[in-house]
Amino acid sequence: MKNKKSESQIKSLIDESSNCVIIPHKNPDGDALGSCLALNHFLLNNGLNSIIVSPNNYPNFLKWMPGENEILIFENDTSMGKLKIENADLIFTLDFNDLSRSGKMCDYIKMSSAKIIMIDHHERPKDYALINLTNPKIGSTCEIIYNLLNYIDSDAIDSNIASCLYTGIMTDTGSFRFPSTTSETHQIISKLIEKGANNSEIHQKIYDTFSYNRLKLLGIALKNIEKLDSFPYVIITLSQKELDECSFKKGDTEGFVNHGLSIKGISLSVILIENKEDNIIKISFRSKGDFPANIFAEKYFNGGGHQNAAGGVSKETLVETKNRLINLLKSYN
Ligand code: 5GP
Ligand code: MN
Repeated sequence: MKNKKSESQIKSLIDESSNCVIIPHKNPDGDALGSCLALNHFLLNNGLNSIIVSPNNYPNFLKWMPGENEILIFENDTSMGKLKIENADLIFTLDFNDLSRSGKMCDYIKMSSAKIIMIDHHERPKDYALINLTNPKIGSTCEIIYNLLNYIDSDAIDSNIASCLYTGIMTDTGSFRFPSTTSETHQIISKLIEKGANNSEIHQKIYDTFSYNRLKLLGIALKNIEKLDSFPYVIITLSQKELDECSFKKGDTEGFVNHGLSIKGISLSVILIENKEDNIIKISFRSKGDFPANIFAEKYFNGGGHQNAAGGVSKETLVETKNRLINLLKSYN
């Protein structure tokens, strides 16, 4: 019932607004972009001025989504981005619940006089929005957007919107295999296919796009995988040197960490990726079952996320981070 109230409040705010800005989190993934694009199509179709401002760029395998070429990249076009935020009367923040995840846009969002609507599915939302439409039990922000649009006007879901939502639901549920995938998820997916999402084509566009170098890099990651003695945990590392050898491009390591969980009996897979430019190690956690990846990431690596998929960072070296991680995991229960 709580969601219905937020949905009707959002409908009223859309009705009374004219300039909207939609913001995904930094390093947007399929769900962040899919939800932003779907909502943007809907608002544009309803005669509003609406634009997506992404904190930074996103990987090529997402650069086919309908409407994607209209996205403004804040990092590349900061003055226009600031202007759009300044002139907005309605701001949507999608697929995140902590303004710091909007990167350098954070301060401008805070200064804006626009009404802010958060639509998200992460745990423990921060208190910055006028309306929160959030539910951590739902597997993707796209599923929440589907429910919202379906509530406002089910006929408004056209094939562009359907393709964007399909993409985000597919990527955030690990192609419908994570426990967050419910019968309702499949019912929604069925509707999206009916509305024109080409499921087979979308799958190929997202997953069958490896470059030769990217597959080589996956090979190195898999070669580096180590299992902790007597623990159902594996750690993968990629050094900057290894990334350079494969001409690493943003997004190339996406999904690598999941391979650790394909080993029978493994309940946690962690990947540590060195980033010499920012002088950090970026860490991704994927777990099966009860291991609370988000709590672990938040407690020890300044991060967060979901129970089974979380991330964090370390400012130590790759070797130091790995050793600290191993010690923490061995004493964690
Ligand atoms: P990934 O491992 O794909 O980068 O991120 C998995 C999930 O963890 C994301 O959906 C996001 O919710 C969360 N996450 C990743 N990195 C961070 C981080 O540095 N801080 C926080 N709070 N969450 C993160
Ligand atoms: Mn998401």
